Parts: sequence; structure tokens; C-alpha cells
Amino acid sequence: MHAALSELERLFPPGRLLHRPGELVPYESDALTAFRARPLAVVLPESHAEVEAAVRWCAKHQIPYVARGSGTSLSGGSLPIDGGLLIGLNRMNRLLRLDPQERIAVVQPGFINLQVSNAAAPYGLYYAPDPSSQPVSTIGGNLAFNSGGAHCLKYGMTSNHVLAARVVLPDGETVELGSESLENTGPDWLGLLVGSEGLLGIATEITLRLLPKPETYHTVLAAYDSLAKAGEAVAAVVASGLLPGAMEIMDSLAIEAAEAAVKAGYPLEARALLIVELEGETPQVEAEARYLEEVIQKSGAYEVRVARSNEERLKIWKGRKAAFSAVGRLSPDYIVQDGVVPRSRLGQALAEIEKLSARYGLRVANVFHAGDGNLHPLILYNGRIAGELERAEELAGEILKLCVALGGSITGEHGVGMEKKAYMTEMFAEADLAAMRRIRLALDPLELANRGKMFPGEAPALQFHGAHPLEKAGVISRE
Ligand SMILES: Cc1cc2nc3c(=O)[nH]c(=O)nc-3n(C[C@H](O)[C@H](O)[C@H](O)COP(=O)(O)OP(=O)(O)OC[C@H]3O[C@@H](n4cnc5c(N)ncnc54)[C@H](O)[C@@H]3O)c2cc1C
Repeated sequence: MHAALSELERLFPPGRLLHRPGELVPYESDALTAFRARPLAVVLPESHAEVEAAVRWCAKHQIPYVARGSGTSLSGGSLPIDGGLLIGLNRMNRLLRLDPQERIAVVQPGFINLQVSNAAAPYGLYYAPDPSSQPVSTIGGNLAFNSGGAHCLKYGMTSNHVLAARVVLPDGETVELGSESLENTGPDWLGLLVGSEGLLGIATEITLRLLPKPETYHTVLAAYDSLAKAGEAVAAVVASGLLPGAMEIMDSLAIEAAEAAVKAGYPLEARALLIVELEGETPQVEAEARYLEEVIQKSGAYEVRVARSNEERLKIWKGRKAAFSAVGRLSPDYIVQDGVVPRSRLGQALAEIEKLSARYGLRVANVFHAGDGNLHPLILYNGRIAGELERAEELAGEILKLCVALGGSITGEHGVGMEKKAYMTEMFAEADLAAMRRIRLALDPLELANRGKMFPGEAPALQFHGAHPLEKAGVISRE
């Protein structure tokens, strides 16, 4: 046994310190199952003090570590470090406090996103950030990836909803960042932590902002004869001053797949569908709905449907939610990319992706959070055909470069992790990366926390892409 492990045995009882090969297998990869690595051991803390002890042990023995929530990262962010420690936070899954007056919830990091809204529902409140993985992903993972979802257009990403966090820094010291109020003095240290992908510390207690549930919804489905027109319609809605709760686009391949899967009643001949949903107080939504109708008519939609009942609304969303996994029906394999462009450049980005798809001879289906400019192109390929995976990867890289060239970013919500670190230099100059590294080294001179992630460098070669087991089982869908 590794000499230092016997010291860990004194800190964690059997069952919460795993180091036999068979015990480690479930932790060897995250949702990007193409990468695998074997940690030295896994610990399953149940308290802040145990996280602190684990991190101190790593610092003492200079062993790199990674924190893990539910392991649904699609970018290899929670992939273990070869020979390092994996700190699994799923057992720290308690709601510590819910204060409806202050509209806050204080949770442990392993608390599941959807459970926050479930706990807040009796008070007419909910937690706004809604990644598609919300039935399984943890608040700690959401914080580290600054996760978003369909409704982040109106309400902002995770960073806009985390008020405070208790954090174990890479040297084992504990700090309290932020406060229960929205006002803070001094630099925004909490802002620095959110989205830092587990590199700056492990959050062990997180205070979240709750919002009142919207009173009513108005859901519109608009059909277009071109993808670019639908993209431009998004820019027109935003330019009009409206702020919908969600704006999503599906292209013809995605429509075909969704229809085949759930029969949502979408117009099958459409080249693109735009879903716009207004939400809020009834008088406000009614007034906005009239205005939205004008904007959509002017944007060149050839068919516009409005959901007249909650059932019709749910049917529209059912198709959209099914689209990702349904694309699996069209192709044996696919890669999901996650890039961002400014909303005003959406039309242009989609037209360029169509050209790239033709040039590479690979079909690309587009389903995305259009309101955020967050694209999720699905690149369809057949892994059995020699060279097709490599071509698909090259095309995925071209799409990321296109996003940066248009003024956007290489990741909207899935993180950089291991998968996209090679593309960091597309986005950041050497000086920017050096500044980020200096911040990291100030907290973690030995680069123990999540070593090997996010900063530029070669990622291991991908071997396989496809649906996550939970997607296959119909528990979560990718959006
Ligand atoms: C089908 C599917 C759909 C998805 N849809 C979306 C989506 O719509 N939007 C979106 O944003 N993401 C989405 N994701 C990606 C993923 O679910 C989110 O990024 C989620 O926030 C990860 O949470 P997790 O608990 O699984 O974190 P993990 O994968 O376990 O970890 C993610 C990162 O967070 C770090 N980390 C975990 N806990 C802590 C902590 N307490 N303190 C510090 N760092 C920590 C890890 O080291 C790692 O770098 C999807 C994934 C899948 C498989």
C-alpha cells in the first residue's frame, strides 16, 4: 500500500476510503467517457472538516486531487488525476437552511440542483439556473462550471445566484466568500471561484438565491425556411427590448429527430424552429406577447403557433427536450460541441456551420440556447468508418475557432476541463494565460487542485463519443 494511504485510513473509515481497483472503476471517468484515468484513492467526506483533512493530506504529501460532484461534466473536468486523490462530495448532500423571507437556501455541495427548487416550491420560490442535468448534477459542480440552462437568458448563470460559499483552499485553509446579501465590499473573490473548474478550492457550503415562481407563461413556436433567418430573429427579439425567459432554436435535422421520437407536432418541412417563451406577471406577459407577435411576424417566420394551454406548451418543450437524445437515431455516433457567439452574429455563425458541414461531408444538427448565443452543434459521424471520428473532431475544432473569430467563446456551459484546453490559446493571449496562472499559483504553488485541466496542453485522444448512460436510460437529456 502507498505509504501515505495508511495515514488516510486514520482519517476515513472503511467504506469511505476506496483504493482497491474494483472500487475505483466507477470513478475513472466523468460524462466524457472517452477519457479514463485511475486515481490512487477515492475519499467520500461527510463534513467540511473531512474535506479539509483530505486536502491537507494532499498538500502534505504533494498528491494532486480533484473534487467530484455527480461526475456529469462533459469536458473531462471531474476526470481523476492519475495517481491522485478523488474527493467525492455526493455524501455531503444536505439542505442546511431554507429561509423564504430572505429567499435563500444554504446547501452542502453534493445537494442536487433540482432538489433546491423542490424544497423551495412550498414557498412559491425556485432556483433559476436549470442545466439539463439538473435532476442529477450537484450545486458544487454547477458552481465550479458556472452552469447554465434554458432560463439563464433572463436570470443569468449560476454566478448570478450564488451569494456565498465556504471554501477549502488548496493548502487546506478555510475561507468564507461572499455573504447572504447582494452587496459586498472589496474584490469579488466569490466571482473568481465560480467557474474556476475546481482549480481554486472546494466549496463545502453554498448559499443560493431563490426567486419567486413566474405567474404565467406565453410560449410561441415560429417556423422559418432558413436557419440564418431564425438566428436573426433572436437578435431582433433582443434588440426589441423584450427579455424572454427562454429562446431556443432547432434546425431541420433536430426537428426530424425530435418528431420521430416524441411527435411534438412540429412543422416537418421547416428549416428552423424558434421557441420563445415569455414569463412573469400576467399583465406584463400579455402586453409583451402582443409586441413579440409583431417582432416575430417581421422576422420572416412563415408559420407562428402560440400554445393555448399548458398541455400545448409542454408538447412544444417535450420536442425540444427530446431533440438531443433523439439525434442518436440519425447517426451511430455524434460529438456535442459547446461554443458561444454574440447573439447578433448567430445568423452568420449558423450559415458558416452549414458550409463547414458541407466541406467536411458530415451532417451537423443544431439545437441550442439561442438567447444566450450558446450553440450546441451535434456532429454526426460513424465511428466504424476509418477516419470519420478524426474528421468529426477536426470539424468540432473548426466550429470552436469560428465562435472565437466571431467574438464568442470556446465554452458556454460545459467547461474547458480536459477536452477543450488545447483551444484556450485560440481565445487567450499568452499574457492572459500567464495572469490566470499567477492567480492559481498564488493559491496553489504545487498545482495540486485539478492538475492538468483548463490550462493549455494536449488532451488525451478521444476514443469514443456518444450518449451518457443516464441519457440512454432517459434520466437526463443534453441541451
Ligand atoms: C446529459 C447532460 C446534459 C447536460 N446539460 C448541461 C446544461 O444544460 N448546462 C450546463 O451548464 N451543463 C450541462 N451538463 C454538464 C454538467 O452536468 C454540468 O456542468 C454540471 O454542473 C456538473 O455537475 P456535477 O455535479 O456532475 O459536477 P462534476 O462533473 O462532478 O464536476 C464538474 C467540475 O466541478 C468541480 N467540482 C465539483 N464539485 C465541486 C466543489 N464542491 N467545489 C469545487 N469544485 C467542484 C470538479 O472538479 C469538476 O471540475 C450536462 C451534462 C450531461 C451529461
